[in-house]
Amino acid sequence: MTRRQLRDAGLRPGGHAPVAILRCRRCAYRPLRTCTRPAWLYDARLAVPKRVPSLAQEEALDRAMAARQTCQGCGIRQPYCLPRADRRCADCAAPDLAVAA
Ligand SMILES: [Zn+2]
Ligand SMILES: [Zn+2]
Repeated sequence: MTRRQLRDAGLRPGGHAPVAILRCRRCAYRPLRTCTRPAWLYDARLAVPKRVPSLAQEEALDRAMAARQTCQGCGIRQPYCLPRADRRCADCAAPDLAVAA
């Protein structure tokens, strides 16, 4: 199977070398030409399932993102990452900036 076929089947090469390298159709008739687009074939039996992030991993990721996006001033989660210094949204940080200016 080619890498693409493996991917379509939800697999990926399991770290093994390709079992065969096919010359492309155009080169099949020209044995002397160096094939620039060979197809690398992998053994489907040695392929392993594509890595799918588990639900737990996704939840951990979401918690990390929530910590970065939740404003310490109003407690509202913003769709962007807040400054690491104070973790406050633009609305909560603005009054301070106005005072400072
Ligand atoms: Zn070729
Ligand atoms: Zn806020």
